[in-house]
Amino acid sequence: MSMVTEDELKKALSTAIIEKKDPKKRWLERIIKSAKSYHKICPYYDKRLGNCFLRQLNEKKGKCEREGKFDGCPVFMDFLESSYDKIVNQGRIPPIDFRDLSSSVY
Ligand code: SF4
Repeated sequence: MSMVTEDELKKALSTAIIEKKDPKKRWLERIIKSAKSYHKICPYYDKRLGNCFLRQLNEKKGKCEREGKFDGCPVFMDFLESSYDKIVNQGRIPPIDFRDLSSSVY
């Protein structure tokens, strides 16, 4: 029989509390996982010109400097976070499927 140390127990409890308290963080993890299940390359990446459609909303040129690798991309994360905020502020439940996100935001 293995024993759980006090440190392991504290760590597990603090992680559980953070996850319970931070629904946005949990949602971000789920929606990124969903996005990865549908897209190998960023859905906002213009392969032909190397542009980022999200950046182009704010900048004239808006190049993607990551060749469409969206995992950990700050532009992609900002988009997800602001989408979550917008949906929640409207009193709606954010979708868990990435394909439903754009119809929820716009
Ligand atoms: S900058 Fe990020 S969000 Fe934009 S196309 Fe590249 S990977 Fe996608």
